[in-house]
Amino acid sequence: MLIRMGFLVLAVVAALAVAAWPSEVEEPQGPVIVMAPEVTWEPEEPGEGTLFRIRVRASEHTRVLGVHGTVAGEELHFARVDDRTFESIAVAPVGSPPTVESRLRYVYAEAPEAYDEVRIPVIPGSYDHEELRVAPRFGAPPSAEDQEQLDRDRARARAAAARAHRTRPQWTGDLVMPRDSRVTSGFGDGRVFNGQVSSRHMGLDLRGARGDTVLAAARGTVEVVDPFLLAGNVVYVNHGAGLLSAYFHLSRQLVSVGDTVEAGQPIGLVGATGRVTGPHLHWVVRYGMTSVDPRSLLTVLAPSRGRGRP
Ligand SMILES: [Zn+2]
Repeated sequence: MLIRMGFLVLAVVAALAVAAWPSEVEEPQGPVIVMAPEVTWEPEEPGEGTLFRIRVRASEHTRVLGVHGTVAGEELHFARVDDRTFESIAVAPVGSPPTVESRLRYVYAEAPEAYDEVRIPVIPGSYDHEELRVAPRFGAPPSAEDQEQLDRDRARARAAAARAHRTRPQWTGDLVMPRDSRVTSGFGDGRVFNGQVSSRHMGLDLRGARGDTVLAAARGTVEVVDPFLLAGNVVYVNHGAGLLSAYFHLSRQLVSVGDTVEAGQPIGLVGATGRVTGPHLHWVVRYGMTSVDPRSLLTVLAPSRGRGRP
């Protein structure tokens, strides 16, 4: 009798196990409700050749552990701004209108990671054209020797961009124009060198006489102090999170590679080194290798902007 009871208990346990089995298998396949995060950006329509902020906000019942991705192929560096919100600086390159593409990857706490693609509208920039006459050496195709230096200069700029992408944000709320002077040539203007359309002007020219002081726009680490062929004597400052600023045609550099510079610190003197028509500061801001209107660095990093907004 006792043995029979034993069998009965076993049978009941087995029956329960069989009954429980299908639901245990099905549970992970059942609808895991993951509401995709909301992606927004500021400003609502970024300008061509500017920096902007992209924001990812997790839905209320979905825990997001991390956000990764790119805009215009440049890596983003998302930082958590509150329980549900992640934010990164991003770039709308020259030539991107009508839209720039963002590819995003969400790492969820309770679900497999997911991919997302967003098209962000970009307002076209309005650019001027400018005729310039420079020394014939710079108007003709470069010699083999010049080409070698151009390649070397480009490799340095690329290495600096890669380091900026690997560096944590260095800036503080302090931001300054590197010179308090008039803009003499705008960002993005078409350049016609010795009658040939050559390129766009991928920096901002600020008036200055030889020897006038050039200030670091924001806090960062000095990455490059070098003579370049076209840019002349340069200083590159790495602000972290992909951001770099560079100061071209200097008569003198006042800092060394590895120095930490504060916003407003003198880093060089205005000059006319490299491919120039006269002394001035050519100021460059890049996100990775993508140049933007340098003034958008000050706009996007300004502490009042985009903080604490719903
Ligand atoms: Zn320039």
